Amino acid sequence: MSYDPNARRDTPLALKLKERIKREGLITVADYMQACLHDPEFGYYVKQPAIGRDGDFITAPEISQIFGELIGLWCAVVWQQMGSPEKVNLIELGPGRGTLMRDALRAASKVPGFVEAISVHLVETSHHLQAVQRETLAACHPSIMWHQNVRHLPTEPAIVIANEFLDTLPLHQSILNSEVWVERGVGLDAHGDLQFQSLPQTATRNERFADAPNGSVFEGQNWRILLHELRKLAREVPLTAIFIDYGHAETALGDTLQAVRRHSAEHPLTSPGEADLTAQVDFSEFAEHVSALDFIVDGPTIQAEFLGRLGIIERASRLMSANPAKAAEIEMAVARLIAPQGMGTRFKVLGVRSAGLPPLPGFSA
Ligand code: SAH
Repeated sequence: MSYDPNARRDTPLALKLKERIKREGLITVADYMQACLHDPEFGYYVKQPAIGRDGDFITAPEISQIFGELIGLWCAVVWQQMGSPEKVNLIELGPGRGTLMRDALRAASKVPGFVEAISVHLVETSHHLQAVQRETLAACHPSIMWHQNVRHLPTEPAIVIANEFLDTLPLHQSILNSEVWVERGVGLDAHGDLQFQSLPQTATRNERFADAPNGSVFEGQNWRILLHELRKLAREVPLTAIFIDYGHAETALGDTLQAVRRHSAEHPLTSPGEADLTAQVDFSEFAEHVSALDFIVDGPTIQAEFLGRLGIIERASRLMSANPAKAAEIEMAVARLIAPQGMGTRFKVLGVRSAGLPPLPGFSA
């Protein structure tokens, strides 16, 4: 990485956190991440999160309209697999600028009955992004409701979609020190600047990675609330869900906490509240938790294969023939989504369905 590991900016949130640490002592990495993203005054998603070319980071639906279109068609096929219920909630977690939902609804409107059957529910913590979504989606569907968090979603048949949502959930990290794992936290160095330190009182042993070298980092995301809500949603009704995110298919050691500001990576302690902070999703761990709730999981599979099975190449060539002037641009965008050394393999897709439903489209049998 090309960033300066010693850079620290005194953002308003950095000053607030330093005061808090002086008062209360070290905070965990998960507390730090929570504050950076959601501090009520200075959190990244509370101020003006900037998604897109002119912002801090770019996501698949912002790269190509085909991404949202394929997800929209996926939803319509899944609705048919659920028996075409007369009413179904289409729930998106963390909809960003609303681009994915806009493209999805446009494509899915070609499937008779689907758009009439759905109510759209958007789970978005950021007031600023809620306003952007209202603008993007104003003419797209008559029934759109917003929710500030995943609690209190209606329990009716539902299709849940989430692109780059899991990676924002707070992350705990522990470091191996002489056969003992110690939780990693954020404290202050001799100059009073933020610094990663360990929380000695948290020492535990973990047989799983007993042979790992000293200094190894083990990560675990806090999915408690999300899993609790999924279980509530699924108790009464058929539920299907799709989670797309960058992450690994097998649990592995390593520090994946990452800060991105204006399309550049920087040290996670550099600009609290002014950079997007994410971590790689451990899909095998997530799948295990979801299966324990009596769901069936499909995948994880890599994004390139998932989009390939949904027909990304065919859709791209049709779009290119219809817009010859934009053919090169469309081709480049699609290549980026399925790049073998990039998004195509770094991003994984996990499907979740209630027992009794057939395997979801896009995953190998
Ligand atoms: N899915 C979009 C945006 C991804 S960025 C896209 O692909 O472009 C993460 C999104 O999740 C943002 O909309 C952010 O505001 C939202 N978000 C982050 N944490 C959240 C939380 N705890 N509850 C609800 N939304 C959250």
